[in-house]
Amino acid sequence: MVKAVRIHQVGGAEVMQLEDLPLEAPGPGMVTVRNQAIGLNYIDTYHRSGLYPLPLPTGIGMEAAGVVEAVGEGADFAPGDRVAYCSAGFGAYAEAINLPASRLVPLPEGVSAEVAAAVMLKGQTVEYLLHRTANLQAGDRCLFHAAAGGVGLLFGQWARALGIETIGTAGSAAKIELALANGFDQVVNYSDDDVQEQILACTGGEKFSVVYDGVGRATFKLSLDLLRPRGLLVSFGNASGAPEPFDLQELSVRGSLYVTRPTLLSYTATTEELRASAAAVFDRVLDGTLQVTINQRYSLDQVVQAHRDIESRQTTGSSLIVPA
Ligand code: NDP
Repeated sequence: MVKAVRIHQVGGAEVMQLEDLPLEAPGPGMVTVRNQAIGLNYIDTYHRSGLYPLPLPTGIGMEAAGVVEAVGEGADFAPGDRVAYCSAGFGAYAEAINLPASRLVPLPEGVSAEVAAAVMLKGQTVEYLLHRTANLQAGDRCLFHAAAGGVGLLFGQWARALGIETIGTAGSAAKIELALANGFDQVVNYSDDDVQEQILACTGGEKFSVVYDGVGRATFKLSLDLLRPRGLLVSFGNASGAPEPFDLQELSVRGSLYVTRPTLLSYTATTEELRASAAAVFDRVLDGTLQVTINQRYSLDQVVQAHRDIESRQTTGSSLIVPA
């Protein structure tokens, strides 16, 4: 038996329950991973709330790192191997889990399970946002919302290393300081009424060729308004709720804008893409580009509080759930 967090209905944080579940021996191509550290991600709240529907009942959580405990037929791992995963299925909030070997990534020496679980999903997101969604180059400039969050701090650090100028937004003075300390060139409080003017003051009035928006409903129109003609809005999340449906004419009147709604899964769909993206992240950890900031830790029986904290904007950087 293993302790695992499950939901039987969607709703608020309180629908999550810690249960004792049987864990079968892994089938062909599958591996049992004993989780040492579990990553908390905003997407977990969408699965729990029903914004991204999953068949019920279901486990919750997408990311963890740990040690291979048992190996099914044909799975290319051995007991004792250190591994991490973030897009292998649902149910990472657990002491142990069975997963397809093809969605696991071997952990390089020098990267601890805690760091891996704090950086893999968010770091892979930064990798594809910077290199593959927009392919920004040194000297380019972009706007990034929620700069002090888990994805945000890693984005600031990685973009700084690439020589990309970053303007960020955040919801408090303390978060602005944190984002500035993690690579952002300038950061504005988007709770202020004159946020658009403040952002434009950072650039001498120039609009952006790329805006990264993981906040969603609250910032969507601001993001469109801050793009120059033929600019790209990367709408990659819904922390404030999903953006309202909109008229394509909105793109035309602002000058032939582009909008993309990317997902990590479609940028790491094959095992090769998954492992190349993970290797890029771990290389950046090992060369010191990414200093992974773990600012919140919870036990498995504190997951309700963990979701309440991330949804009420109490967290900064990465958060971990550590099994006892
Ligand atoms: P964060 O740690 O960034 O937490 C979300 C942040 O959003 C909060 O800290 C808060 O910062 C900001 N925010 C603004 N408005 C609200 C609101 N009304 N309620 C709650 N938070 C709000 O989370 P993650 O790093 O895990 O993820 C960041 C975003 O990226 C999420 O939208 C997530 O879904 C998305 N994502 C998308 C991926 C993809 O491939 N499409 C992959 C990974 C993440 P502040 O107080 O400064 O406003």
